[in-house]
Amino acid sequence: MKTGIIAMIGPPNVGKSTLLNQLLGQKISIVSPKPQTTRNRIMGVVNEEDCQMVFLDTPGVHKAHNLLNREMVRNAISSLAGVDLVIFMIDVTFPDPNRLRHLLSELEKTGKPVLLLVNKIDLSGKDGLLPILKDYADAFPFHDLLPISALHGEGIEKIKDLVIPLLPEGPPLFPEDIPTDVNERFIAAEIIREKIFLLTHQEVPYSTAVLIDAFQEKEGRPVTIHATIYLEKKSQKGIVIGKQGSMLKKIGSAARKDIEKMLGTRVVLNLWVKIKKEWSRDPGFLRELQITD
Ligand code: GDP
Ligand code: MG
Repeated sequence: MKTGIIAMIGPPNVGKSTLLNQLLGQKISIVSPKPQTTRNRIMGVVNEEDCQMVFLDTPGVHKAHNLLNREMVRNAISSLAGVDLVIFMIDVTFPDPNRLRHLLSELEKTGKPVLLLVNKIDLSGKDGLLPILKDYADAFPFHDLLPISALHGEGIEKIKDLVIPLLPEGPPLFPEDIPTDVNERFIAAEIIREKIFLLTHQEVPYSTAVLIDAFQEKEGRPVTIHATIYLEKKSQKGIVIGKQGSMLKKIGSAARKDIEKMLGTRVVLNLWVKIKKEWSRDPGFLRELQITD
């Protein structure tokens, strides 16, 4: 039996969370076209015959400006401590390894084997891909390099083929029926945040936090969820609520559909919007959001 922990790191927006969902065949990590969507470390467990792969999705590694970002970078780096293997992910629109020199040299210090995944090959021809592979192979002693398309599920099986031989022998770390360490409550809050990332712009998504206030399950009844959307300014509250509540309705109905898919049951979703100034500087609130532990 092979068992191991694989950390997925890389710049924001290259498709790490999309890949985790693909590997698991279910949505546990939210995805949006905007960078810095993922704020927490999220674990996904993939079981194969004679093998358990524990993947860690991390927030993108980028320059830290405020407490929230600093926490995210620290989480990403600290998540490498106990891992057996690192998946370093870029995409075809991110061709210059020089911009990642600092991070790559930190990675080399860890002495862990590193696989390079070049994602979004659906966006580039073969001609575009080859120079990227060459530049990265020159920049770092990757154990292997693999072009994939996480969105279209291309190359996913090959990832497993490359990963499994690099894992140590050992008993499974988690029961086979537990795909992740985050609970449905947390994923529900994340799904609401994803819809805000998808439907609002500028600073609004980055000023958004979501907490579940109540999650009521009763036999034969729809699951009733009460959630509060926290924003930093009055103007943002206006945007998220929209004209006569139209935006909040959109957010709520898109989120409800995804949460229903996750839970496999009908859901009643009640959303509130509140202002909490500078929540991203409040360590206690960040803890409530499970961003620090
Ligand atoms: P992360 O920040 O690295 O976790 O990236 P996400 O998983 O949130 O993805 C960022 C954006 O890239 C989303 O809009 C995804 O739909 C998109 N994306 C992910 N994988 C692919 C891919 O293989 N091809 C294309 N064209 N887009 C992708
Ligand atoms: Mg992500």
